[in-house]
Amino acid sequence: MKILFAASEAAPFSKTGGLGDVAGALPQALAALGHNVTVVSPLYSTMEEQYRSKLNFVANFNTKLGWRNQYCGVFEYLYRGVRYLFIDNEFYFKRGGVYGYGDDGERFAFFSKAVVTMITHLDLQLNIIHANDWQTAMIPVYFNYLYRNNPAMADVKTVFTIHNLEYQGKFNPYVLGDLFGLPDGALPILEYRGDLNLVKGAVVCADAVTTVSPSYAREIMTPQFGFGLDNIISSNSGKLYGIINGIDTESYDPQTDPEIRYNFSAANMRNKARCKAALQSEFGLEADKNIPVVAMVGRMVPAKGLDLVCEGFENIMGRDLQFILLGSGESRYSDFFETMRGRYPQKVGIWIGFNAALARRIYAGADIFLMPSLHEPCGLAQMIAMRYAAVPLVRSVGGLGDTVADCRLGEGNGFCFTGGAEDLLDALDTALGVYGSRTDWNMLRKYDAGCDFSWNGPALSYQKLYYSL
Ligand code: ADP
Repeated sequence: MKILFAASEAAPFSKTGGLGDVAGALPQALAALGHNVTVVSPLYSTMEEQYRSKLNFVANFNTKLGWRNQYCGVFEYLYRGVRYLFIDNEFYFKRGGVYGYGDDGERFAFFSKAVVTMITHLDLQLNIIHANDWQTAMIPVYFNYLYRNNPAMADVKTVFTIHNLEYQGKFNPYVLGDLFGLPDGALPILEYRGDLNLVKGAVVCADAVTTVSPSYAREIMTPQFGFGLDNIISSNSGKLYGIINGIDTESYDPQTDPEIRYNFSAANMRNKARCKAALQSEFGLEADKNIPVVAMVGRMVPAKGLDLVCEGFENIMGRDLQFILLGSGESRYSDFFETMRGRYPQKVGIWIGFNAALARRIYAGADIFLMPSLHEPCGLAQMIAMRYAAVPLVRSVGGLGDTVADCRLGEGNGFCFTGGAEDLLDALDTALGVYGSRTDWNMLRKYDAGCDFSWNGPALSYQKLYYSL
């Protein structure tokens, strides 16, 4: 099959979170199954020089967007069996970061329109167009609007994946023509509760909608997890699929990871202790192998359950452990943890910001990986942690519930809770109890490091879906 995978970020060229990881690894797994896969993403100025210097120019054309007529360059890079295309427009993408600009709506409307224009300009002859999250949600909408009645496109099917329903791309309806270049007749497709809602448009227009875990697929049909779109999701449930994410097991391999000084594997765990000691020292904590290191890595937003950690923090500090956190996000959380580091300098280590190399050293050095999310579409961090033999302690929602099974309930790979801060502490105490029994802990973390979280299984599920379409 010829598959075009469109995303606003794709590792290793750009990444701010899980979407970048998925857009990096899933296309490669599909290519390994023998498909012809192209990934298209914006050409950000943050792309590392080692890739930028090897880009080849493919084409340029103009993209119409409302009254605008914008330049669009296309560059190419072949990497691990996948053709990566980058949409170039310096006005939109030559900036310091990936998101967070007042005109993000216009930037990604441009990107989506440019992708749809590129399909005919480069005569890509596709079978599947796979768009992801609100930034590319206009692709299935534009596709229906521009090409659905084109006989040459009769066999092209569109798939839309929701990586996180919290972000829907909502805009004032008056920009329908000006920003998205669509006539008033298109309003019912995109309008929802007084907004233009791009994710709603994609859910309605795509031939299939997927989300990144079976549990999250069920959850988003309920008001608690639907972020207002549960009705729309439910009424399209006939074309909704939950497919769990994998991780890039080649990149996240403690045996070969160049970012960690002492490599190890499920078969030979001896160096894990040296990674732990190095991590403790890096954070200025006592390098004592008997003290459990509890770590968190992630965006510092309410959805990641940080309020539970803050609420229970004094109690957590009452346990014999060290707490290490790497994160970026809301300042109220970083302020809190800075204060706690001041109060417990021997027990708390924090690093505020985004640091991919440090994240790997934390996964490698941690004993327990804490992820108490309030909602979690899939979650990659807990799977990466397990691959690096850090045992997850998670709040059992969405993909966390699909990937972590509680040891207390029989054969498990981690510790789970469902409620609030008290339940978190309860699960933590259980985990610390198991940690105290060396043999049990060693067996558990060895088991975790050997779990298969590769993309092989998920890629087969996507393949099955594509064929069914
Ligand atoms: P989300 O996509 O909601 O951010 P995931 O668990 O699915 O959460 O994916 C997060 C990814 O981003 C993981 O690879 C994690 O290691 C990485 N990450 C998150 N925050 C940071 C940070 N501050 N520094 C480095 N890597 C981070």
